[in-house]
Amino acid sequence: MAVIGQTRKEELSNEISQVSCGEVRTFLPLIHQQLDGEISPEEESQLNHHLEKCAKCRQMLRLEQAIKDALQVKLEKKPLPKGLVNSIKLQIKHTTA
Ligand SMILES: [Zn+2]
Repeated sequence: MAVIGQTRKEELSNEISQVSCGEVRTFLPLIHQQLDGEISPEEESQLNHHLEKCAKCRQMLRLEQAIKDALQVKLEKKPLPKGLVNSIKLQIKHTTA
């Protein structure tokens, strides 16, 4: 592995901050809990309040929802629509690039 220079590190951290907000560590677990239906009303209002002003976390919620839906379809042993898989892959690429 090549040594990553300071400039490259800064670029990387810029890229990461573009796809996730500074509070992602706080809200990502809440997003998962909400999708699992295990979120408390207090946490849900906290999350919804944040989602109103944070497009990045809204995007993350949509992505997580799409993944969950895809897994659900798989569990039900229904064929997974190819377009859905590709669009999730694209979204993941876009979000983690
Ligand atoms: Zn956020």
